Amino acid sequence: MEDCIFCKIIKGELPSTKIYEDDDVLAFLDINPVSPGHTLVIPKEHYENFSATPNELLSKMMPIIDKISKAAEEGLGADGFNVALNNGQVAGQIIFHTHFHMIPRFKDDNLHLWPGKPYKEGEIEKVAEKIKNNL
Ligand code: 5GP
Ligand code: ZN
Repeated sequence: MEDCIFCKIIKGELPSTKIYEDDDVLAFLDINPVSPGHTLVIPKEHYENFSATPNELLSKMMPIIDKISKAAEEGLGADGFNVALNNGQVAGQIIFHTHFHMIPRFKDDNLHLWPGKPYKEGEIEKVAEKIKNNL
């Protein structure tokens, strides 16, 4: 894709701090990290989001995320990590080339995930049905 920043990074037309590369997958550090070591793991082939990415390719990315998260725990002393993916503008996706975020977490880093709120009486079953009926 001509205007895609991540495709340009893959081609070396834009700089990046790469930490892993193979035939299918590239991982590099996010320029605006949530925590030090925040890594983006992307397929080398352009797909606009997770939903558009073939399962076979997604399954090649998972072991890489696993490898990098373990290296971050070892190398940076991270105590855990979040794996996140924003699918679609409404979910906060800004770059429309599939990417997983691997965000190292540290004790007392004071980062908070989204607030949750309980379902109303009887709602959880209805929501589950609406999803299950479309699997
Ligand atoms: P999204 O919101 O699309 O899931 O996340 C896009 C991520 O890409 C953001 O965390 C942002 O900081 C990162 N990002 C945007 N442009 C660049 C860039 O040119 N280089 C790198 N390394 N990261 C980028
Ligand atoms: Zn791209």
